[in-house]
Amino acid sequence: MTLLLNIADADRLHTFHNLFAQEMPDLRLVTPGMCFDPAQVRYLFTWMPLDDWTRFPNLEVVFSLSAGVDQFATLPPGIQLVKMVDPHNTQGVVEYVLTACLACIRDFPTFAWDQAHCDWQPTQARPIRKTHVGILGLGGIGQDAARALATLGFQVSGWSRSQKQIPGVTCLAGEEGYKALVAQADVVVCLLPLTPQTSGFLNRAFFGQMKAGASLVHAGRGAQCCLPDLRAALESGHLRNAVIDVFETEPLAQDDANWRMPRCLITPHVAGRTDGLTAAQNVLHNISRHRSGQDLLWTVDRDKGY
Ligand code: NDP
Repeated sequence: MTLLLNIADADRLHTFHNLFAQEMPDLRLVTPGMCFDPAQVRYLFTWMPLDDWTRFPNLEVVFSLSAGVDQFATLPPGIQLVKMVDPHNTQGVVEYVLTACLACIRDFPTFAWDQAHCDWQPTQARPIRKTHVGILGLGGIGQDAARALATLGFQVSGWSRSQKQIPGVTCLAGEEGYKALVAQADVVVCLLPLTPQTSGFLNRAFFGQMKAGASLVHAGRGAQCCLPDLRAALESGHLRNAVIDVFETEPLAQDDANWRMPRCLITPHVAGRTDGLTAAQNVLHNISRHRSGQDLLWTVDRDKGY
């Protein structure tokens, strides 16, 4: 029985090898460059999908390195998919969202743009207490971000498919809830998973529903945002500014015009990063559950896509 580690990061590999040698020494760990029998591979830990799933006829569980699992759309239906739930990754995204919301209300994306043009333009900051943040997606990450923003004194709403209850946060669901959130928010934060329903969600119609002078923080997935529409909303001045962490094609090519969207701060997909030890512990814990016939934790609902 084999676990294939389809990752290149030496620190993470080292952590997996150490932990499994100690806790589950009978499980063979291999990496793609090694000589091994693909038929023995029962488990796979990976960020990217495989080109050819048929090479591993006895694969039963894929453990995703990331919280987002949209990249596994081609995974055959019989194989279970497990997302990464890592409190360190969650906290990283929460800190990114706090930083980005503060940057937006203090106009840092605007000042960075002005600086590039040697243009001295003071603006009036929007105070936290008068700022309404609307979070799209109240999963593990969205909920923690909502709580952290509320603790700082922001007025916070969140939107999800099913109704949530979070003390200090206005929780909304459904079409009406979405409309109320978007119309009210001074800063919209996208933390949705990429699915057929959320692909292209941040588009012209969406920006048109946002309040004039509102900001966008996008740390979900790149394909959710139509960049030409975002550019138009920024250029027209309808949106005050934006902070964008994710792009459909990453990294952005050097000659990509999106580097130069006005008043838009770009970060290179750095909101969260999975911790190597937590990842190894999660995979170990789940494999021991699987081997003893228990249900896996953190499985993805393949119909919903997250
Ligand atoms: P979860 O799967 O825990 O939660 C997803 C949330 O989105 C749920 O609240 C869900 O609603 C809601 N949702 C999904 N589809 C819809 C829809 N069509 N309409 C309304 N609500 C919807 O995800 P996480 O919180 O763990 O992560 C969220 C995303 O953040 C990831 O998928 C990934 O794309 C992104 N991410 C980005 C990182 C970065 O570095 N930029 C790092 C980590 C994650 P319900 O609860 O009702 O099911």
